[in-house]
Parts: sequence; structure tokens; C-alpha cells
Amino acid sequence: MSTTTAALPDASLLTRFGIGDAHCHPQDDPHDAGRRVRDLRTPCLAVMGTRAGDWGAVEELAKAAPGKVIPCFGVHPWFAHLHALSDTQLSDPAALLDSPPNGKDAPVNHPQLLAAMSGSRSRSSGSSSSGSGSGGTSPRVQPPPAGTPAGGDGAPGPGPGPGGAGVGGSGDEGCGCGPSTSAGARGRVRAPGEWLGELRRLLGEHPGALVGEFGLDRAAVVPGTRLKPSFAHQLALTEAHLALAAELGRPVSMHCVQSYGHLQDLLRRLGPSGCPPKIMLHSYGGSVDLVKGFTRLPGGVGDRIYFSFSSVINARPDRRAGLLQRLAAVPPERLLLESDQSSADRVDEGMRAILADAAEARGMAVEALAAAVGDNFRAFFASSLEAMAKQAQRQQQQV
Ligand SMILES: [Zn+2]
Repeated sequence: MSTTTAALPDASLLTRFGIGDAHCHPQDDPHDAGRRVRDLRTPCLAVMGTRAGDWGAVEELAKAAPGKVIPCFGVHPWFAHLHALSDTQLSDPAALLDSPPNGKDAPVNHPQLLAAMSGSRSRSSGSSSSGSGSGGTSPRVQPPPAGTPAGGDGAPGPGPGPGGAGVGGSGDEGCGCGPSTSAGARGRVRAPGEWLGELRRLLGEHPGALVGEFGLDRAAVVPGTRLKPSFAHQLALTEAHLALAAELGRPVSMHCVQSYGHLQDLLRRLGPSGCPPKIMLHSYGGSVDLVKGFTRLPGGVGDRIYFSFSSVINARPDRRAGLLQRLAAVPPERLLLESDQSSADRVDEGMRAILADAAEARGMAVEALAAAVGDNFRAFFASSLEAMAKQAQRQQQQV
């Protein structure tokens, strides 16, 4: 995704100043992804899982590019309806979906979707029940229901550009997040013991891992329908992720579209003991006023908030002015940059583009800005980088 500025800053700045990609999804384009990630000029990538079905692919990438990939595990709101928090939701999957207020659709209109959600597992013979390792590299194991633009859970595959397949991407609060992740928005609902247990296990196994990505999205629509992942359930899932991250002392990367007020209320209610040590609002699309609202959250919670930006939304020129305003509004020490790309091939370019945009927005020389965001990256990801260094040390000793 290219920026509208003429020349991009040199990729060597990324390496020289240690500017990592704070949020991306290269696991969505899995062919030889480890090598392509290792070859990047961007020195480090926080690779976001989006659902139980792709955590295995994230883990694989972290193994294939050790020291370069910070694995992150969470449930993106586009897939909220596939991750239950109670056993009753398993038996009544319609409760995980919201109908549009205009009454123009309802879960009952989508029997195939409901059947898939309630686990018509008979045809999904290759579908593992653990979810781990099934994402990314495995071939599609289940034919998609009729009219579905995307395959069953666990079959992400390389994706198109942002705003794909009817999920997310609408509204003025842009998040080009996980472009290809609409693949997999249909499938069976996972029991809480299954996915939450797996999430905990992965975080335990990867002490440098973040919890992410997860959050709130009022614009998300289940592909092929006008149904949305239940917002009440999105809120409950978000709280569950925050609680786990707070308990384990992990930073988080959060997605938020048209829900910033709810998110602020939730963080205020949870307070310092219920909030994670660091909170990244990825592809921040809220208002300039809300920036202050977040950084002034009481009890020191405001000091934990970072704002990350990508140039993906520059694909829409009408959004560029808003991006530049937001880039200029965040406190300098809380600014992170991300590509938000779903293929390693576009990470370096995405990082160079947002670097240029951020320098322009803040009226800084590119090198000065690069130095500052390199520092911010190391500050936000300090615990991850430390854990990865220790792991590398241990592996060296074992050799
Ligand atoms: Zn994302």
C-alpha cells in the first residue's frame, strides 16, 4: 500500500533506529513466510494472531524467524462469535450474533452459518479440535457454506487488500486490520475451555508474547450476512483478554472501531490493577479529543496507553487528513508505527510509508522521528525483547 508522498524514506532507517512493526499479520501469506520475514529490513515484527485457528501459524512464524517475530495471541472482534465464553453459547450460537437494527436480517435466515457454528463437524474430518497448528499452512478442510466469500475456520490463506469481504473497514475510524482475516469468519464455535486454555498455554510457552489482537468493532459484519458478532460478547471477550494480560503482566494490542467510548469506560472501570502494563491502540482512529481522554485515564492507566498508526488507510485519500491530525495529536513518547499488512512482502514499504507520514504530520525531520519511534518501540516491547534475548541466550548455551 503506497503512500501519497512522493519518495519514501530509505529502508535502512528502520534497521538503524530499530523501528519494529508494532502490528502486522504476515502469517496470512504463509508460503515461505519465515524466510521473507527474516529478509525484511524492519528489524522486528509484532505478529498478531486473530483467532484460535491462526495461532499455530503465528507460532510457526516465531520459530522460523527467532529474535525477529514477537508472537501475539488473541481473538479479533471479527471472530468474536466463534469463541464462546460459556457452554450455553455453544448450544445457542444465534446468541453470539446481533441482527441489524433495521430488521433486515436475522440469524434464522442463515441456517448454514448456524449449523457450521454449532459444529456440524461431520464433514470437517480434517479439522483438529485443538486449533493449534491448524492455521496458515493447512489446506482448506471444509467447503465453505454457499454464498460465503471465505473458507472455514483455520483456512486463512493469503488475502486481498484492506476492507476485504464485508468485515470491518467501514466508518470513518479506519482500521485496515487483518485484511485477509475475513477468511475464517465462518466455522464452528470453540468452547471456552478449548480456546482460552490454548491461549493460556501459548502465552506460557512464549514469555515474550503479547495478548493481541482483540477488541471492539461495531462495523464488523459476518461475511455473506448483515449480522454482526454480538457486541455484548465482544465486550465480554475484551474484558477476558484484558484480565488475562493483567494477570500475566503482558502488554496488549487492541483493535477498536466505532467503540472508543466503550473502550475508555471499560479501562476506567477496570482501573490500574485490572489493566495490562501497556496498552497499544492499534491503527488508532478515534478523535483527537479522545487521545487526551485515554492518556488521562486515572490511576496511572493513562500512562500505559500507546497509539499505533499505519498508512494502510491512505488507500483512501479522504482519510489522509484525519490520519495526519491524529499522528500529530499523540504524545511523542507514545507513538508507535505499524504496517498492519497481511504479507511480509509489504511490511517494509508500509513502515517506510507511515514513517514519512508521521514525520510530515509532526513537522520533524525523518531521522529525528525515526530515532524517537525506535525508542518508543523498545519501551513498549521491553518485556518481549528481554524475554526473546533470554531465550536466544538459552538456545545458544544448549548448542
Ligand atoms: Zn490487525
